[in-house]
Amino acid sequence: MLLEIDGFRTEPTARNLPRRDSAPRPRRIDCPRIERAVREILVAIGENPDRDGLLETPARVARAYAEVFAGLQQSASDHLARVFDHEGADGDFVVVRDIEFFSVCEHHLLPFFGRVHIVYLPAGGRVVGLSKLARTVDVFARRPQLQERIGSQIAEALVGDLGARGAGVVIEASHMCMMMRGAAKNRSDTVTSAFRGSLQTDASLRKEALALIGSRSDR
Ligand code: ZN
Repeated sequence: MLLEIDGFRTEPTARNLPRRDSAPRPRRIDCPRIERAVREILVAIGENPDRDGLLETPARVARAYAEVFAGLQQSASDHLARVFDHEGADGDFVVVRDIEFFSVCEHHLLPFFGRVHIVYLPAGGRVVGLSKLARTVDVFARRPQLQERIGSQIAEALVGDLGARGAGVVIEASHMCMMMRGAAKNRSDTVTSAFRGSLQTDASLRKEALALIGSRSDR
């Protein structure tokens, strides 16, 4: 793969690959504003926000949101920059399965949660500690999200920030917006996959990677 950067064609490295997670960071989460909004919601659904049980609710929701959406102010590169060199890692898959995650769907602001499975092909001997992968998942999960987008953002960060030759992310999740709402309550899991780099372009590598990850359906 060759990249066109500033008119030069160059081999990708961790440094010269474009940052995919470059959206402007929001200001600090505005907790008083969340509190006012939650109070409004309580009034709008016909509740009395001044009754004992609800008095502290707006402040509690604000604190919970600050935590649940903390990923908006974080970047995957903070975690993926700390690589350790593992000579000979190139060509070997790194597979990490069953990373637990919790996120909030951006359509309903209701939680979805499940497990993330990651596979990547290191380049230049650059591999990253397992805890950094889990933190990377949190960076993207702790935002208003779509399941598909979490997967593609993780895969892009592995290629863009870590400099992996290829990356694949499979996510199995349950969505509260599907489970709680409607007549046909639905407990089924949603499975999504995203592949970048050589795992996107090379079907046989991708097949090998998927076999390593496995999924609930073939366990
Ligand atoms: Zn939803």
